[in-house]
Amino acid sequence: MTFDELKTMDDTYVMQTYARFPVDIDHGVNATLYSLSGKEYIDFTSGIGVNSLGCAHPRWIQAIADQAGKLGHISNLYYTQPGAQLAKTLCQRAGMTCAFFGNSGAEANEAMIKTARKYSFDKYGKGRSTILTLNRSFHGRTIATLTATGQPAYHNYFFPLNEAFRYADPTWESVLEQAGDDVCGVMVELIQGEGGVNPLDREFVQKLAGLCQEKDWLLLIDEVQTGIGRTGSLFAYQQFGVQPDVVSFAKGIAGGMPMGGILTGDKCAKVLSFGTHGSTFGANPMSAAAALTVLDILDDGMMAEVKEKGEYLRAGIRSIGSPELGDIVGMGLMLGVDVKGPRTNKELAALLAENGLLILTAGSRLRLLPPLTITKDEMDKGLAILKQTLAQ
Ligand SMILES: *Cc1c(COP(=O)(O)O)cnc(C)c1O
Repeated sequence: MTFDELKTMDDTYVMQTYARFPVDIDHGVNATLYSLSGKEYIDFTSGIGVNSLGCAHPRWIQAIADQAGKLGHISNLYYTQPGAQLAKTLCQRAGMTCAFFGNSGAEANEAMIKTARKYSFDKYGKGRSTILTLNRSFHGRTIATLTATGQPAYHNYFFPLNEAFRYADPTWESVLEQAGDDVCGVMVELIQGEGGVNPLDREFVQKLAGLCQEKDWLLLIDEVQTGIGRTGSLFAYQQFGVQPDVVSFAKGIAGGMPMGGILTGDKCAKVLSFGTHGSTFGANPMSAAAALTVLDILDDGMMAEVKEKGEYLRAGIRSIGSPELGDIVGMGLMLGVDVKGPRTNKELAALLAENGLLILTAGSRLRLLPPLTITKDEMDKGLAILKQTLAQ
């Protein structure tokens, strides 16, 4: 099939909800991808922070194939080893108590919202169901997580939204202004991803954690994008010096198999009880087996590598010395690069794709989320395409 035939079929039969690049991807190895016609692309996106082990990692393939040959799915009516093992591994490495598994980031955040509301209801009864979130946040596309998302543009067309969400700026004053007796939790991304790669201030996060403790609000950290090694630690909160009551994860957890979930601390470990929550595909054995492989590979040595690679990319981008690019923000392999113009970040991303480098945008920045396994050679190739494109 040619690209044009594929595009026509897609345009006809798939809902056009995505602004796609005029690029198709057929297969790949690590961070090097190939189209149907054989054109090569360096991947600085990892499928939006999902392919933590890159494309076609041999151990990931083996884990899924072995599990598929034994048991692909059975539902949560029965015990399965991969899900239980994954829960134990995640809790031990995150300093948490219990896990719940679903299939996506939005579904993970729904579980987080339900935990906060039920925790509060169990303890205080009605009237304490409001969740504070931050402006410029992104928490998903379901109605509840869309409401949680502090970007009015996403809310269009879907009114009425859910009740009981309020938005603050990431400042102490703004949080206090939005606080109230109706609040049960605060939900934040430590580095806002879709909102523009906006890191929160460490001191602000620690003060917020203190306020949550004082008011008995649950501290809900959305690590759907920052989690699972992306920033150079299993979770980003481990570098902010705070411990959430609930953390959500998804994107990178199973290296490309669909999975999301939450981990809860002692305080709210058993809040979601029999009959209060569920997910048919949750802890699917193939996804769980893939996730166990991801976690096995993301050891301390690998976390140090993620930080080194992040530094290498920063230095490489800086050394291009283009007046079109400004500050570089982010942590580990989650980087945002200011674009000063005249070309916009979207125009640059389109040109880069044409020249063989896949890159993301967020807010007005270029956003880099390469596979955690990207090689020096692949980074060099990507940087060379960036340099050549900026000169063009
Ligand atoms: C991507 C993302 C989500 C939504 O995840 P889906 O798997 O698309 O539902 C939620 N929160 C954050 C921080 C994300 O980056």
